[in-house]
Amino acid sequence: MSNSILAINAGSSSIKFQAFATGPEALLRRVSGLLEGIGNAPRLVIRDGAGKILRDDKLTQAAAPSVEAGEAIIGDWLLSAEAKDVIGGPVSAIGHRVVHGGPDFSTAARIDDSVLARIEALTPLAPLHQPKNLAPILAWRQRQPAMPQVACFDTAFHRGHSELADRFAIPDALYREGVRRYGFHGISYAFIAEKLNEVAPAIAKGRVIVAHLGNGCSLCAMKDGRSVDSTMSFTALDGIPMGTRPGAIDPGIVLYLMREKGMDAAAIETFLYHQCGLKGLSGISNDVRVLEASDAAQARLALDHFVYRIAKEIGALAAVLGGIDALVFTAGIGENGADIRARIARACAWLGVNLDPVANAARETDFSATAGGPRLLMVPTDEEWMIARYTRQVLSL
Ligand code: ADP
Repeated sequence: MSNSILAINAGSSSIKFQAFATGPEALLRRVSGLLEGIGNAPRLVIRDGAGKILRDDKLTQAAAPSVEAGEAIIGDWLLSAEAKDVIGGPVSAIGHRVVHGGPDFSTAARIDDSVLARIEALTPLAPLHQPKNLAPILAWRQRQPAMPQVACFDTAFHRGHSELADRFAIPDALYREGVRRYGFHGISYAFIAEKLNEVAPAIAKGRVIVAHLGNGCSLCAMKDGRSVDSTMSFTALDGIPMGTRPGAIDPGIVLYLMREKGMDAAAIETFLYHQCGLKGLSGISNDVRVLEASDAAQARLALDHFVYRIAKEIGALAAVLGGIDALVFTAGIGENGADIRARIARACAWLGVNLDPVANAARETDFSATAGGPRLLMVPTDEEWMIARYTRQVLSL
């Protein structure tokens, strides 16, 4: 009988999961699920491997008030006869997305008491995200103490950065205690690096900039399939603007908010994580679709600024790479936002990329107009598949 690997990706208000059977080569998707709107209007949708909906439950706010409660609901289903039936047996290992692996975790790790303690100790570096990632790990340890569990870190893919890229221009003592440019979205970037071998082998070993544009947004410069720099750094606030985060801002703004507005750390944290970005700038929404449908001047400004800043940072990473062989778009906006893709691609024409508007609108993988030169690619990401893949590797399943 093959093993079944469960991949869990717990975010701030959603939990994604997928279960895979381990074939001789490939991972075969058996189930995918999404519990979204936790604490607000929770909804659990579970599909089988062919995409057929097995469940679509609108839950009350009281039923799933927190990620912990959501995890319990998903856990109950995964242990049900229905789940065993579709997965083809009980789950034999679980992989988790963990946002922060600090300076030391450069690869996925099997979770034991010592690894768990190290993950918990990193919470001050990702106070909003790390506890959400820990919740399902702790829940499964309690439920099934013998279940092998693996932590897959969003920072790990970036740990090969040079010290030059890893530093801020601040005193060394802070660097030594962990104030570094870690970079995030590494599970997604690792998936794209792997997928490029299949969809564009000619450039997989080249100089590639990947734009992961979802709720969180960042860019990654890769050479030879490895990350050499990224726009997110010490926290997931840095870099390009996002739905509700501003990306890089002058640190003097934080001092201004403290002195002139009397804001404390908690208020500034809420402001930076939830009230800025497309939402703050437009005053309308964090969702690109809503802004594209709006006639309001502020909606246009927000999208214009989003494109401007992304193109500017692509320029910076192109300088790091010494030119590019491909610009790759992925995640919610990168995969579905044809207009944003087109606008960013046009703003990067000076790098030699050449947009084919028809191929772009048709969501083709390669939407470049010309046969030669740097490629424009759209590659859907699959973080859960990558988590399952890491889990399989670490446990030799
Ligand atoms: P997460 O980071 O939570 O995984 P996703 O990668 O699913 O998020 O991205 C979510 C974002 O994708 C939404 O905020 C929305 O702005 C964007 N999005 C989804 N569909 C479209 C679309 N058709 N056009 C433009 N943007 C879209």
